[in-house]
Amino acid sequence: MNTPLSAPLMQMALRAEPDIFVLRQRGREVATAVGLEYQDQIRIATALSEVARDLVRAVGGADAAFRVAGVEEGSPVLRVDLAPLRPFGPAGYEPTSGAVARLVDSLTLTPADGVTVIRMSRRIPANAEALTPQRLAELRAQLAQSAPASALDELALQNEQLIAALDEVRSQRDELAVLNEELQETNRGVLALYNQLSEELEETNRGVVALYAELDEKSAQLKAASESKSRFLANVSHELRAPVTAVIGLARLLADSASDPLTSEQARQVGLIRSSATDLLALVNDLLDLAKAESGRIEPDWTEVDLRVVFGQLRGTLRALATRPGVDLVVEEPPSPATLRSDETLLTRVLRNLLHNGLKFTEAGEVRMRADLVDGRWRIVVTDTGIGIAPDQHERIFEEFYQVPGSTSSVGTGLGLPYARRLAMLLGGSLGVTSVPGRGSAFTLDLPVDGA
Ligand code: ADP
Repeated sequence: MNTPLSAPLMQMALRAEPDIFVLRQRGREVATAVGLEYQDQIRIATALSEVARDLVRAVGGADAAFRVAGVEEGSPVLRVDLAPLRPFGPAGYEPTSGAVARLVDSLTLTPADGVTVIRMSRRIPANAEALTPQRLAELRAQLAQSAPASALDELALQNEQLIAALDEVRSQRDELAVLNEELQETNRGVLALYNQLSEELEETNRGVVALYAELDEKSAQLKAASESKSRFLANVSHELRAPVTAVIGLARLLADSASDPLTSEQARQVGLIRSSATDLLALVNDLLDLAKAESGRIEPDWTEVDLRVVFGQLRGTLRALATRPGVDLVVEEPPSPATLRSDETLLTRVLRNLLHNGLKFTEAGEVRMRADLVDGRWRIVVTDTGIGIAPDQHERIFEEFYQVPGSTSSVGTGLGLPYARRLAMLLGGSLGVTSVPGRGSAFTLDLPVDGA
């Protein structure tokens, strides 16, 4: 005989209360046979008996059919159809116990063969024995033979299952209590750690705040000290300028041919007074300039400056200085157009200072100045082939009064470079140096095209 796959595994009629027990028991039997797990066997059996009770009371019973579906799709389910003896009323069917639907994977009202059946199904686990047509035929035969147990047997079994379920619930509750305890313990630990961390954080924060306050105080003190230094320098230089200028004037008068003639010794001494006073005046002027630049009292006079004009003037005025026979002063012609927004006087001062230093510290070779437009900024470089500066002195030479030990062949104040750097900054640029001792130096003035 060739039974179709969809043929029921087992069918039975539900007509009276005692049949409910039979349906329950048969349901569990089928569930076991198709490979449902123990818990699922009880679930489906319980759902069946609940729905069966509803059906016996409401419509006088039903015909139950057990099938296996979904085998070909690879997701087999045990499906039970309960076809009521009489149609349901207009309200349809709703299980008395709301929990029934949760016992199975689906519980629906489905039209089948002209009647509305109650269909419930439960997935058969993947590890169950494969439900081949041959296996299904075997199951059909096996279920047809097994006789239903009595209602009493089923009741006893039901009781056993209930006790087992209760035990399981109890053990789960105990496990839950243990877990809860552990969780509380962990929570307490986390809370303690959190408290400790936030205390430490607060402590650190307090330290940082105190440190910042101290830093603020120190920088205010530093600022005040620097301001009073500038004020002191400005005042002293200003006060010194008048008497020193007077000394120079008097010395000039004494040496004047219109005055009484001096002995040669007197003339030599007056000459010494005059040259010392001139040096002193240069120092005083440098100090005054620097103090002014530092206190921010120099306001650049921004105009359109032509570098070719500036270079031309410097070429002219410094040629006279380059008196050493073995040293050439080369001021290159800047590329055209060579304009920028700047302060011509201040810019000239910076460049003159650099050229002056180059000539001062170069015994042989050349001092050269050139300008290039690099990445939209002017780069003016003054190079020399002089004594050079050791790397550890590169920043120090920009400090006030600092002179590289042993380098000062001629007079100087050690104020030229700090002043030049100040002015470069005022003009929106920067001043730096690269140098190799014995080979020469390169001072680079970097300036914006459109001012600060
Ligand atoms: P000053 O030239 O009056 O001593 P500066 O501030 O201009 O003061 O220079 C500081 C020092 O830096 C100089 O005394 C010198 O030691 C060093 N220096 C400056 N320019 C050069 C240079 N072109 N070559 C070598 N050393 C230099």
